[in-house]
Amino acid sequence: MSAASVYLDHNATSPLRPVVFDAIVEALKLGGNPSSVHRTGRAARALVEAGRRRVAALVGALPAEVVFTSGGTEANNLALKGVGRRRVIASAIEHDSVLKTGACEIAPVDGNGVVDLAALERMLAGSTEPALVSVMFANNETGVLQPVAEVVRLARQAGALVHCDAVQGAGKQRVDLHGLGVDYLSLSAHKFGGPTGVGALVVRAGAPFETDRKGGGQESNRRAGTENVAGIAGFGAAAEAARDGLDVAKLRDRLESELLKIAPEAKVHGSAVPRLGNTTCISMPGVKAETQVMALDLAGVCISAGAACSSGKVTRSAVLAAMGLEPSEAESALRISSGWSTVSEDIDRLIAAWRDLYIRVTHSDMSRARAA
Ligand code: PLP
Repeated sequence: MSAASVYLDHNATSPLRPVVFDAIVEALKLGGNPSSVHRTGRAARALVEAGRRRVAALVGALPAEVVFTSGGTEANNLALKGVGRRRVIASAIEHDSVLKTGACEIAPVDGNGVVDLAALERMLAGSTEPALVSVMFANNETGVLQPVAEVVRLARQAGALVHCDAVQGAGKQRVDLHGLGVDYLSLSAHKFGGPTGVGALVVRAGAPFETDRKGGGQESNRRAGTENVAGIAGFGAAAEAARDGLDVAKLRDRLESELLKIAPEAKVHGSAVPRLGNTTCISMPGVKAETQVMALDLAGVCISAGAACSSGKVTRSAVLAAMGLEPSEAESALRISSGWSTVSEDIDRLIAAWRDLYIRVTHSDMSRARAA
């Protein structure tokens, strides 16, 4: 993330906030094991507990409800395995760390990428086996918000528990464990200015939870292993800094209206329903997402393909497929995600780079058509 480049990929990882960097350095200097009884251990314990209070405050939880993990993936894995329900219903647009944890029944989403509540209700009614329902707060590719409180209402009627992957919502807009009424909430620090490799599963007091992480009994026997003290200190600092959420929706709206002026045939996915203020998923028809990502990278602008991209390989997006997009449209979808460090000039640079690419592509199409 050099100073000259424009970074609009916060949904992948948001740059570290300076205050977080300082908190991590201080914790690293301190060292120590929070389980040690001597003064260094007690100081490390104090950092962990301060981090816990700050993370709890971010999502309206009690500190004792926060279980630190190595990130969102582990939090999702722990929740799905730890609840002890054999029947798991997950929405079609969940992250792979939910969908690949075990066999799930899949609740469909509509064309806007919102979970189909009527279908979920039918699924819940279809069996007497008590279920765990897993529905995310906001989708990582489109930013589309899910009707979590309604999901909770349906789940309660059917005696089901609810897990919510709030990895993309927390720190961007208000997420409230008890307001939503969910039993389990997954968080990840690096999506809102904290370090990678640290997250939390928030377990509502009284919700069933049995861990398979055995060892030293840390995290009140819910996740064994010496705590990542520096990571937790950074997570806490990021949570504190992000308490008011992001104020970037105006930038996003300007971006989308400018891009649509340049390419009126382009399509913003999920724009008809409430979304995170920081995320735009847009298709430039006929131009593969990889081509756009590379062209924008050469222009110094970092964004992602709309398709899920792990290990650097772009694969077809299951989220956009679940929304019913044609493969050609899904293959041309970009994800642009802003965050705490985004300024208006970043948006100008992206618009200019996108315009240049669009002109190049449409001109070469025209010359090809003329030559044919
Ligand atoms: N859940 C969602 C919705 C995500 O977007 C991600 C990461 O992209 C994860 C879970 C996994 O989080 P982590 O990278 O902290 O393991």
